Amino acid sequence: MKQVTLIPGDGIGPEITEAVKAVFSAANVPLTWEEENAGQTTFDAVGELIPQTLIDSLNKNKVALKGPITTPVGKGFKSVNVQLRQMFDLYANVRPAKTTPGIHTRFENVDLVLFRENTEGLYSGLEIFDERLQIADSISRVTRVGCEKIVRAAFEYAKKHNCGKVTVAHKANILKNAGALLLRVASEVAKDYPSVQMEDKIIDNMCMQLVMKPEQFKVIVTTNLFGDILSDLCAGLVGGLGVVAGANIGDEIAIFEAVHGSAPDIAGKGIANPTALLRSAIMMLHHIDLKEEASRIEAALEATLANQEECTGDLGGKANTTEFAQHIISKLK
Ligand code: NAD
Repeated sequence: MKQVTLIPGDGIGPEITEAVKAVFSAANVPLTWEEENAGQTTFDAVGELIPQTLIDSLNKNKVALKGPITTPVGKGFKSVNVQLRQMFDLYANVRPAKTTPGIHTRFENVDLVLFRENTEGLYSGLEIFDERLQIADSISRVTRVGCEKIVRAAFEYAKKHNCGKVTVAHKANILKNAGALLLRVASEVAKDYPSVQMEDKIIDNMCMQLVMKPEQFKVIVTTNLFGDILSDLCAGLVGGLGVVAGANIGDEIAIFEAVHGSAPDIAGKGIANPTALLRSAIMMLHHIDLKEEASRIEAALEATLANQEECTGDLGGKANTTEFAQHIISKLK
């Protein structure tokens, strides 16, 4: 039986991971969870933000499902999420955004996948603050190797799924080095994919286009910070952060996690929507080739989402996290 690392995370993390575990157990998914945590609570318990036991578990299992982890704002430790992505070279942050029947949104035909470069750019950790001069520098380091890996991942996906087009979002007009390299590399890589058209959009226009005509985009590839921001924008197009999944993919290891964070405003209330994490878990099942189980759980989830009453409050429903999971379980075939 396949073993997968489970990182419950902070805030709403433990609540939504419990819901996913309940659905997986009811669906008889043939996998076992190896639970390991990270972040402040782990630091308080064992003195490490990312304990060696978690690193060993990831190296052994190669696949993980992860809840969100809180990062202190403007001070404190470097994001555990960013550290994990860099430590295991999880260079592709893959985030699908698709409208779902039953979930009320402003747009009807959104069906796109965002490929965000996940280890470089402004998240490289190259930051200095000159206390005396009160000058802050955050260096955006972008490499040709990094650009090529994320661009190829996007083009491979577009080719495999007959998407027809990849849109490169950038700020190469102003950032003529760190902003231009992705665009330059993409133009070169595109030549290897004659069935896929490449277009590029400056990031500000990209945002406007996404909130006016999102259906024109199929695959978007962009650098780290822009991808982070566009992810939440795309979430807003299809029902909010409660419903959008994601994967951090490297050549060896993959960590599946929702786009959203630890949602401290609703943590502990039992009302968080587990859909985003469950959809991430479904992506994980495809990744480890448990496709039948993935389809069965997805069908039950979609049937539940089609009935607003059975959904959590963020989707206009009345169910709490546990009740929502039970509605999904009752629809499993
Ligand atoms: P957030 O995504 O946690 O929350 C934004 C809003 O969306 C909140 O109103 C929240 O209640 C709502 N929301 C999020 N997930 C939801 C769900 N499943 N169901 C219903 N509503 C949901 O973003 P934030 O408040 O900016 O960040 C909180 C913390 O999470 C910060 O410490 C941040 O660094 C961290 N964070 C972690 C990750 C990660 O672990 N990958 C990602 C983003 C943010």
